[in-house]
Amino acid sequence: MAAGFRMLRQVCDHVTRSRAAVRLMCSRAAAAETHPDTRSSFPPLQSYSEEESMMRDAVRRFAQERIAPFVSKMDEDSVMDAGVINALFQQGLMGIEIGSEFGGTGSSFFSSVLVIEELAKVDPSVSVLCDIQNTLINTLLMNLGTEEQKQRYLPRLASDTVGSFCLSESESGSDAFSLKTKAEKHNDYYIINGSKMWISNAEHAGVFLVMANADPGAGYRGITCFLVDRDTDGLHIGRKENKLGLRASSTCPLTFDNMKVHQKNVLGKVGHGYKYAIGMLNEGRIGIAAQMLGLAQGCFDHAVPYTRQRVQFGKRVFDFQGLQHQIAHVATQLEAARLLTYNAARLKEAGRPFIKEACMAKYFSAEVAALTTSKCIEWMGGVGFTKDYPIEKYYRDCKIGSIYEGTTNIQLSTMAKIIDKEFDG
Ligand SMILES: Cc1cc2nc3c(=O)[nH]c(=O)nc-3n(C[C@H](O)[C@H](O)[C@H](O)COP(=O)(O)OP(=O)(O)OC[C@H]3O[C@@H](n4cnc5c(N)ncnc54)[C@H](O)[C@@H]3O)c2cc1C
Repeated sequence: MAAGFRMLRQVCDHVTRSRAAVRLMCSRAAAAETHPDTRSSFPPLQSYSEEESMMRDAVRRFAQERIAPFVSKMDEDSVMDAGVINALFQQGLMGIEIGSEFGGTGSSFFSSVLVIEELAKVDPSVSVLCDIQNTLINTLLMNLGTEEQKQRYLPRLASDTVGSFCLSESESGSDAFSLKTKAEKHNDYYIINGSKMWISNAEHAGVFLVMANADPGAGYRGITCFLVDRDTDGLHIGRKENKLGLRASSTCPLTFDNMKVHQKNVLGKVGHGYKYAIGMLNEGRIGIAAQMLGLAQGCFDHAVPYTRQRVQFGKRVFDFQGLQHQIAHVATQLEAARLLTYNAARLKEAGRPFIKEACMAKYFSAEVAALTTSKCIEWMGGVGFTKDYPIEKYYRDCKIGSIYEGTTNIQLSTMAKIIDKEFDG
């Protein structure tokens, strides 16, 4: 069985060997080239390159066989199975865009989006682990790391080390840049004091990307990103939150008590942390959109077959028009969420503006996930409300989509700002 899963890297190796430019394959133009049904110059948005299709199919099988058996227990115990994390690394899913020279899979952002979606169909907690690693942590290091930082961290992030992104604090959530954690310079190191809240994956993380203010007098322009290893003196990881959903994903507070961090661990430029955080979260929102989309689709795929089997009044409940219209409506919403998400991802990959589209995708997919999971429970009647089926878990898990990486209100405000500018002429 394991041999069947050693394929993600092989997928990329195969494609890299057979085609000169693997990254180009991620463009829609490349998709048109590789798909017989997309020969027109404007292929449908749901066209995939050979690599993307292979990745998606491989992850779909992997999630069913290596994650699905553990989902219910992980949720109940509120613990991520260590074997699941290891399997993600083994399959190259934790370093999707990291180049092969650093031991990564060397694939594309769009492939990451497909992977996040596929994982979320089976377990949104596993999906967010993979999402944060790929869309926030690895990307920040690849884009901003010095050669030495890349050599030190990227091979680990691709092979065995989980990363956490540490921005939020108890007093600064939506207003993230009012953060209070301070970094004071002493010779060639910084002393960091303060705390963080809501840090995903902190229970397992080996490296933390910590935003701290190195020049509070300059306001948010003092915010700086530090690479902090788990064993750093002064770093304390608190007890994980007991949450409504996404229970297998650890969410912990951190405290920094005179934590000494060498200046060589500054990621990027001092005082540019706020820019990096904004940039990464813009991209990360496409990942959360993919997570919500996958979650909703996974729930729908469980519920619809039930309605096709369940008989009341002598016929399948699916055959009642009242149910058919609801199912068709939800399917339409799902399709729209997928198109928004894929479009935002393709825009990002093409180097075109994508911030408004990423906000729309995240906002809408979270709404669709909430609608879909709620409807699926209703379509299944009493059993949908029990833990005998995974529907109630999807219902709990989806709520986070309108909160993290910018609440729904923050997405709407960002969109409105851009729309306002668009009308400046
Ligand atoms: C499970 C989980 C995982 C998380 N993971 C991470 C992580 O890994 N790293 C990290 O740094 N953070 C993480 N977060 C934090 C998350 O990003 C914040 O919770 C989120 O940004 C909202 O901040 P808040 O909770 O302080 O809510 P608040 O900012 O207090 O918002 C409360 C309400 O006020 C509204 N509101 C606030 N400001 C405005 C405004 N200007 N206009 C209109 N409405 C407004 C909000 O929309 C919301 O409805 C996580 C949170 C959770 C719950």
